[in-house]
Amino acid sequence: MKCDQCGGVAVIGMPQHRLHLCAEHFLAWVPRMVERTIRRYQMFTHDECVLVAVSGGKDSLSLWEILIELGYQTEGLYINLGIAHEDYSDVSQRHVEAFAARHGGLPLRIVDVRREYGRGIPDLGKTGRGRRMCSACGLVKRHIMNRVAREGGYAAIATGHNLDDEAAVLLQNTLHWQGSYLRRQAPVLPASHPGLARKVKPLCHLYERETAAYALVKEISFVELECPYSVRATTIFYKELLNRLERHSRGAKQQFYLSFLKAREEGLFAPEPESAPELGECRACGQPTTAGELCAFCRLWQAMEEHDD
Ligand code: SF4
Ligand SMILES: [Zn+2]
Ligand SMILES: [Zn+2]
Repeated sequence: MKCDQCGGVAVIGMPQHRLHLCAEHFLAWVPRMVERTIRRYQMFTHDECVLVAVSGGKDSLSLWEILIELGYQTEGLYINLGIAHEDYSDVSQRHVEAFAARHGGLPLRIVDVRREYGRGIPDLGKTGRGRRMCSACGLVKRHIMNRVAREGGYAAIATGHNLDDEAAVLLQNTLHWQGSYLRRQAPVLPASHPGLARKVKPLCHLYERETAAYALVKEISFVELECPYSVRATTIFYKELLNRLERHSRGAKQQFYLSFLKAREEGLFAPEPESAPELGECRACGQPTTAGELCAFCRLWQAMEEHDD
């Protein structure tokens, strides 16, 4: 396999782009793709500071690396979820800290859920409310990201979601015709309220195998352990289905996701104005909420306290 740009040895073939690239040209191609995505969806500019949510995994650390290379102003946020199995959370934190240190001491905020809120994510499974660990974990992460972004005044929170992540969620939502989720799934989630942060996904046009290859070729040291709860995550199942489709039909994943975005841009999923939920303020933490007096995050904590009594 030869690089289409220089004829050297290709390290990756990307059939959906009809492109083979050597290490050098691949490392130049990835940031160009990301820059194009940032501009296309007007995610942020070079004058703004972006909070990069990093988990210690290949996608989020690649994202941080690429944004630095592209000259954006960034700060990192690591949320230590308190997952003790195989020291998962602490090992991940060490990878993030090492990354920031290797880049000359990048600004990094660390929120330790157990230390700040008294319990870690594994405790959430004990409330007996049947809430799945990952949905509770997602709720906690969204709440903390929003809080930190609001306090720090960042232009946006950038997450490492790649095209496989987005296509898997899209497939899941489509199979269930989850209209409200489909309306909200986009590369940019605008701040719909002054207390809510803007969320952006600059890697959403890259396949997972491309972000993985980028991290390997760039020699980014990332956590290779999987979260012990990820085996229960349904998105893995949908990713496998899409990969089977991709093997059968080259570029099918990309086609599925990009056609959805195009349909969205053309107004297929435009929100109905009257359906926009009214936001109040949580009386405990002050964050915007549609859930009444207490936001979903504070209710989750309250449920745990009641469970202890
Ligand atoms: S797999 Fe689930 S529990 Fe683990 S970090 Fe992801 S969302 Fe949280
Ligand atoms: Zn080349
Ligand atoms: Zn609250």
